[in-house]
Amino acid sequence: MLEAIYEGERFNLHSHLSMQESIKAEVNRLKKAADKGAFTCPYCNGILKLKAGDIYEKHFFHPSNSCSISEASETYQKQIKRESKKHSVMKEIIYDELKTQEKINDNLRVEYGYIEKADEKWKYYPDIIIENSKTELAITILTDVTETKDSRLVQQIKKRNKYFKTKNLKPIWFVEETEQSVDMDRRVIHLWEAELDIAVKMKEDLKWEDTLNHLKTENNLFDLFNYHHQNAPRKYEVFSLYYVKSTETNITFTIQRFLKDQISHPYRAFALNEAYEIKMATALLTEDTMQLSDPLIEAQQRESFLQEALKRDKENVAASIQESVNFNDSLVSQPLSIAKRYDEVGMQAILDDYIKEVKVISASELSKYLVKECGAPSQTYLTGKYQIYTKVCIALNGIETSGKIKLIRKDFVDDRIYEVIEN
Ligand SMILES: [Zn+2]
Repeated sequence: MLEAIYEGERFNLHSHLSMQESIKAEVNRLKKAADKGAFTCPYCNGILKLKAGDIYEKHFFHPSNSCSISEASETYQKQIKRESKKHSVMKEIIYDELKTQEKINDNLRVEYGYIEKADEKWKYYPDIIIENSKTELAITILTDVTETKDSRLVQQIKKRNKYFKTKNLKPIWFVEETEQSVDMDRRVIHLWEAELDIAVKMKEDLKWEDTLNHLKTENNLFDLFNYHHQNAPRKYEVFSLYYVKSTETNITFTIQRFLKDQISHPYRAFALNEAYEIKMATALLTEDTMQLSDPLIEAQQRESFLQEALKRDKENVAASIQESVNFNDSLVSQPLSIAKRYDEVGMQAILDDYIKEVKVISASELSKYLVKECGAPSQTYLTGKYQIYTKVCIALNGIETSGKIKLIRKDFVDDRIYEVIEN
């Protein structure tokens, strides 16, 4: 281990040696002091000796039986070796805040993971464990999640995530904010695989899910928000990620909520909310469980998302109707070749020619054509509609059953529009 108590204070071998000009001389001095019992274990108060060989890293050790916490500490130190310096800074700030809450909340217990579970000799330890009357949460902070480290890191994180779950803890991961990548114009979040794996489902996620799955729109959400998606989900599943940013003395949390989409490289998801920052005290409020979000902001964001989705859906439906109107009007045309006489060949023969030359048929326009160009009977109903319109509709219906044309729009009694399938 690297930690010890020296002259009543915490002493870290690494940081102490990093400040020395001559490490060798200092190590010799420390070794002598250690032999005389100057260093003790921070956990069991046992005397520590100093191992100062060249092969192994310099470290303190219990000369007789080592205590369980110091062993757990070793395991934990190895596990967090890859983390940046920010990791321990953030961990300490979060720990202090939670400890403050522990003082005013009788149901709450807060401890470093390796201390809390040392006796059980765990394989991995979360940074901090929070226990309340209902659950035990395993808090872990992740820094330095870069691409080069991603593939190995993912395996590690998956293992740890699974391990904590088998120990009946709910793992919660805080990711350093520099990793966050979101484009709200396209509603997309780009993720590391590691990030995708540690996304969690919290109370607010379930509220979002409930809202989205009860939303009645003609179009799916991905289309409505022009999100470039893989598959439109049948059922919406909401997850969230928590980013942390530290200043010297404080930490802010950013909440990102999303619908999973692409679960292979490049990892992408549909961003549900404009990520927002909350203060540490709000995020870590642990009366019931850690809330990690601001319920007021969440309710507002859900409401505005809902309104936006409904508005877009209405516009979208209106636009697609308009589109089909434009489509028909521009394509309805009369054949150019000289029309045959209705009284000589009959309706069927004229219709056969007609559908060879047009793409879209309007029953009402076809009736006009028959009367004006082919000399069909011109009697009208009181509404002004040609009486032959009814016969035309019956004939078109017949052709439709043969599969040559397809009804694409029905304007009640005024008109029927068909698309010609094969020419
Ligand atoms: Zn000890």
